[in-house]
Amino acid sequence: MSYAKDVLAMVKAKNPGEGEFLQAVEEVMESLEPVMEKHPEFKKAKILERIVEPERVIMFRVPWIDDKGEPQINRGFRIQFNSAIGPYKGGLRLHPSVNLGILKFLAFEQVFKNSLTTLPMGGGKGGCDFDPKGKSDNEVMRFCQSFMTELSRHIGQFTDVPAGDIGVGGREIGFMYGQYKRIRNEVVGVLTGKGLNWGGSLIRPEATGYGAVYFAEEMLKTRADSFKGKICVVSGSGNVAQYTVEKLNQLGAKAVTLSDSSGFIHDPDGIDADKLDFVMELKNVKRGRISDYSMKYKNAKYYDGQKPWSIKCDAAFPSATQNEIDADDAGTLLKNGCYVIAEGANMPTVPAGVKKFLEAKILYAPGKAANAGGVATSGLEMTQNSERLSWTREEVDTRLHMIMQSIHESCAKAAKDYGQPGNYVVGANIAGFMKVAGAMMDQGLI
Ligand code: NDP
Repeated sequence: MSYAKDVLAMVKAKNPGEGEFLQAVEEVMESLEPVMEKHPEFKKAKILERIVEPERVIMFRVPWIDDKGEPQINRGFRIQFNSAIGPYKGGLRLHPSVNLGILKFLAFEQVFKNSLTTLPMGGGKGGCDFDPKGKSDNEVMRFCQSFMTELSRHIGQFTDVPAGDIGVGGREIGFMYGQYKRIRNEVVGVLTGKGLNWGGSLIRPEATGYGAVYFAEEMLKTRADSFKGKICVVSGSGNVAQYTVEKLNQLGAKAVTLSDSSGFIHDPDGIDADKLDFVMELKNVKRGRISDYSMKYKNAKYYDGQKPWSIKCDAAFPSATQNEIDADDAGTLLKNGCYVIAEGANMPTVPAGVKKFLEAKILYAPGKAANAGGVATSGLEMTQNSERLSWTREEVDTRLHMIMQSIHESCAKAAKDYGQPGNYVVGANIAGFMKVAGAMMDQGLI
């Protein structure tokens, strides 16, 4: 067996039951096989054995009181995976499905993604199996305060800087930041995604969605193509999905679907700026369901319990959650003529689906490249916090755009250098790995 395969077998034996983590490691190890042949020094230093093992895993009890006065107990986590190139950085997820394996997969992906951004950020991820759905603002606040009471011991502006992810937006970051400040008596940029009046950055809410579209635009340019008139299918209806639709509209494309965990809506007329305002109010303020869209806009149809991949499109932007495109969905997208996929979500396509996309030689951007704009702009928020300055919208957006172009270029170059031009999966994994591995070699056996 090859070195990468040996390490994968070891990871499988050591981490039973962590399906998503094993899936993420397997994809990276496959990409790295040719790198290991070229660089025997990595094997000698046991870089792969080290890169698959988190530097630190923190798991803790989160007790809080609900509105009825009943005690509730959740399980919180922070995975500090790799700090070779900078402080740990990565979001916090609040969702009932959260467990160790899911957060380890997200933290592992984050190591390579953060490396691609060109900014000095290590990889981490955290969260809790708390379900914010149906909870009052006061319940969410009490939960966030309890969660941060423990987390505050382990994070810091120079150590680990969390951000949002599924279930964590401006409201939750606010409650957590307030509690951190109260406990540590420090006004510092320890979280990103903050409100604009207390250290946040313009364009951070938009960044992941905008970034995914910028990346897809770069892929289209390699075929002298653009978004003008393209029909786009988007899943999810949260932060990433909303700003993906906004940027698609700005570039002349037509986004026709949005979804949530209950079903999806198809609006053949396109989700224009006014309709998107309705969605933002519905999801971010009223915290309602996407099915309400079809009650308001009569040409739109709601499909209960289904995902949007059967809708004919040129481009697809999975922006909800992991493994939301299975092998059949991938086949349906291809059959219907879809030839651009940019993953706003993390690992939304199962391995058999990825294989289909790669074999079809479409423009396929894996999450760790396509959705890196979010963490990149978090990095820009950290820079502004350190400078005690705020940049303009234009300045942040220009930098985000340049970062996405640079990520595209480094993925394309790595893929070409290793004999697989156009394969952004291999390109992202190799380009992300080389920088982290180099830093680990320089810093000795730690
Ligand atoms: P939000 O919580 O804002 O929105 C999540 C959306 O996905 C909601 O519409 C939600 O529906 C849906 N969803 C969540 N879980 C499931 C599920 N198990 N099955 C079906 N639908 C689901 O999260 P974000 O938009 O921030 O995150 C979306 C994806 O993007 C995630 O994979 C995240 O890791 C990734 N990402 C986010 C970044 C960011 O900056 N926010 C950065 C990089 C990646 P419902 O309301 O019914 O739960």
